[in-house]
Amino acid sequence: MTEHATIYYDDDADSTALEGKTVAVMGYGSQGHAHAQNLADSGVDVVVGLRENSSSRDAVREDGLDVATPVEAAARADVVSMLVPDTVQPAVYDDIADELDAGDTLQFAHGFNIHFGQIEPADDVDVTMVAPKGPGHIVRRDYERGEGTPGLLAVYQDATGEAADEALAYAQGIGCTRAGVVETSFREETETDLFGEQAVLCGGVTSLIKQAYETLVDAGYSPEMAYFECLNEMKLIVDLMYEGGLGDMWDSVSDTAEFGGLTKGDVVVDEHARENMEEVLDDVQSGAFAREWIAENQANRPAYRQLRQAEKDHEIEEVGERLRDLFAWAEESESNEERNET
Ligand code: NAD
Ligand code: MG
Ligand code: MG
Ligand code: MG
Ligand code: MG
Repeated sequence: MTEHATIYYDDDADSTALEGKTVAVMGYGSQGHAHAQNLADSGVDVVVGLRENSSSRDAVREDGLDVATPVEAAARADVVSMLVPDTVQPAVYDDIADELDAGDTLQFAHGFNIHFGQIEPADDVDVTMVAPKGPGHIVRRDYERGEGTPGLLAVYQDATGEAADEALAYAQGIGCTRAGVVETSFREETETDLFGEQAVLCGGVTSLIKQAYETLVDAGYSPEMAYFECLNEMKLIVDLMYEGGLGDMWDSVSDTAEFGGLTKGDVVVDEHARENMEEVLDDVQSGAFAREWIAENQANRPAYRQLRQAEKDHEIEEVGERLRDLFAWAEESESNEERNET
C-alpha cells in the first residue's frame, strides 16, 4: 500500500520556536532574497551573509535588511540558512563552521550536500530543511499576496529535540505553511529532486522535444511547423495538466488527439525508456551522479560548458527565437488595440 506523507499547515506551526533567535541567510539569490524578506516581514530577526565584494550587498540594504560577511552573520545567528548555490555551499560551510555553537541550526533548501556527505556538521547542531517547491520570486510574490508556496520539511539531525518545531516555524515565516508543507527526509528530497529534473522536467522533456523536432524536419516538414507542434504547444498542454491533472488535459484535446495519444505515447516512451529511467535513478541512489557532478566542478566544468554550448547551437533555438518574436509582436499589437478601444 502507498504510504502518504504528512502535511503541515499554519495551525500546526508555533512561531515562538524562532522567538528571540537570529536567522543568518547565506546568499541573496533566488531563494535567499525571498527567505530573508519573508522572515523579516514575519517578525524574525534576519541578517544576510554575503562576501565583502558581493554585488548583491546594495540590494540587501535597499530592501531594508542587515548585511554582514558570512562569518559575522553566522556568529550572530542561531539559525544559518544555506542559500548559496549547492556547488558553493561546502566552501561557505568551511568558512562558517566554527561559528556554529551547540544548539544552533544549519538549515537547507535542498539536501544534496548533506545527503552526499559534502558537508558534515558537528553532532551538536540541528540540521533541517525547508524547501519551497518553487523559485524564489514566486515564494516572495505568494507571501506578499498573503498566500504561500507549498514546501518540504525534513530533519536530518535533531541535537536539541526542537529541530522539527523550529523548522516548522521557519516554514511559517517564509509563508509555506499557508499552502502546506510536506514532511520528507533529506534522502527522499535529494533523490526525487535529482531524478525528476533528469528524467522529466529538464532532461526528459528537452530530449523528447528535440528528437520529435528532428524527426519532423528530417522527414521534410518545415522547421517552423516542427517548432510549433513539438515545443510551443507543450506549454498549453502542461498548463492543463497543472490545473486539472491528466484528465483535464485529455478532456480538452480532441477525441482524435486523445486516442492517438493514448495508443502512441507508450510506443514512443516504451519499456526501454523505463529501463533507462531506472538506470538514471540507480545512478542518483548510488551517488554515481553526485560523484560525476562534484568531479566536473573540481575540473572547472569542461563537459558542462560543451553540453551547454551544443544545446544553444541546436537549430530549434534559432527557429524558436524568430517565431517567439512574432508572438511578442502579436501580443504588443493586441495590447495596442485594447488601448485604442478605451
Ligand atoms: P542562486 O544561484 O539564485 O543564488 C545564490 C546566491 O549566493 C547569489 O545570488 C550570491 O548572493 C551568493 N553566491 C554566489 N556565489 C557565491 C560564492 N562563491 N560565495 C558566496 N556566495 C555566493 O541560488 P538558489 O537557486 O537560490 O539556490 C540556493 C539553494 O536553494 C540551493 O540549495 C538550491 O538547490 C535551493 N533551491 C533553489 C530553488 C530555485 O528555484 N532556485 C528551489 C528550491 C531550492
Ligand atoms: Mg551562533
Ligand atoms: Mg526541484
Ligand atoms: Mg534540483
Ligand atoms: Mg495539434
